[in-house]
Amino acid sequence: MAERDYRRLPGERYDLSAIDPSDTGDYEGKKKGEKELEKRREVLLELQRKLHVDGRNSLLVVLQAMDCAGKDGTIRHVLGAFEPQGTQVASFKVPSEEERAHDFLWRIHKAVPRLGMVGIFNRSHYEEVLVVRVKELKPEAVWRTHFEHINNFERLLAESGVTIVKIFLHISPEEQAERLRDRQQRPEKQWKFSPGDLEDRVRWKSYMAAYEEALTLCNTDHAPWYVVPADKKWHRNLVVSEILIETLKNMDLQYPDPVADIDSYVIPDIE
Ligand code: AMP
Ligand code: MG
Repeated sequence: MAERDYRRLPGERYDLSAIDPSDTGDYEGKKKGEKELEKRREVLLELQRKLHVDGRNSLLVVLQAMDCAGKDGTIRHVLGAFEPQGTQVASFKVPSEEERAHDFLWRIHKAVPRLGMVGIFNRSHYEEVLVVRVKELKPEAVWRTHFEHINNFERLLAESGVTIVKIFLHISPEEQAERLRDRQQRPEKQWKFSPGDLEDRVRWKSYMAAYEEALTLCNTDHAPWYVVPADKKWHRNLVVSEILIETLKNMDLQYPDPVADIDSYVIPDIE
């Protein structure tokens, strides 16, 4: 399946019920998939190094999902292919008192990667039209204004050299239940179990409605949304790698020019 199959044209509606979270596309199964991912990690590393030395652009990867959908796993398995020195991860939690005393983009803007860097957002400014909406943390008259602010903000970034890719990891409620049970039962995973996740799970349908509107209203040419079926981890990793490779390849990355007359240098003997 081509990466474009996971996105819609700007203005087109995202219908999440029409996208099967357990889809495995044209891929031939887990074993081959994992081998393929290894190869793609090499490609990703090469492209990220080029992005870094080129220095004219940065890449911002926004990850959004319901709990247990695999944001951390995606970062580890796919984005972990990148050079740590050229990569930064920002995780956005419930805003602090300081953050709440500013506009909602204040903390986000500060975390945007500088040119040459890859920045990963584990949750993002989209929480302001997702959890804020579903849990009624702000009045509708306020969060409704956020869509336009977000589009303008992302346009500012795009025009400043930031290539933006937004990925929604789409899992099914059945798969989430499995993973929650796993967290509840396995001692080495219990630290991840958070009763707050159960409250969000109950509101699944409201979250899907909020996601559909956010994806639809904030899907622009300069900051597209991708929906990645995420019930199968190996498949999720392959699709995310595909999207990132495609995006980086479209960036026309260049190595800097070498020093003049590079061939004329002779590597000297040591003393
Ligand atoms: P986690 O990513 O599972 O560690 O949890 C972070 C929590 O912070 C999630 O429940 C998010 O919904 C919540 N969160 C992130 N950003 C915001 C925000 N702007 N307003 C309210 N809650 C937020
Ligand atoms: Mg959580």
